[in-house]
Amino acid sequence: MNEKEEMARAEEKFRSLAADDEIKPSICKNCGTPLNYSGLGEYKCPDCGRKEYDSYGIVRIYLEQHPGANILQVEKNTGIPRQKISRMISEDRFSVSGRGISTDK
Ligand SMILES: [Zn+2]
Repeated sequence: MNEKEEMARAEEKFRSLAADDEIKPSICKNCGTPLNYSGLGEYKCPDCGRKEYDSYGIVRIYLEQHPGANILQVEKNTGIPRQKISRMISEDRFSVSGRGISTDK
């Protein structure tokens, strides 16, 4: 890898890190109450019970409903960029087999 490619790769990594907080719900869209984090990318409103999800939560819910989807299907149907999905996989939040991505560990 030459220096230019290395720079581009580092830049891309930085961008994906910077973009990581893009989707992070903090206020209930229903009633404006601050949300409580209930784990696994899920946030719940203590007032009205509405649930909101961050990027990880969105991908997790999609994969629970569509186990074995591939990364392009996940990207297309959740709107979460594939770089971010790959990163979640590399962080071991999801597992990958010959049949695709799943939430099983
Ligand atoms: Zn609410």
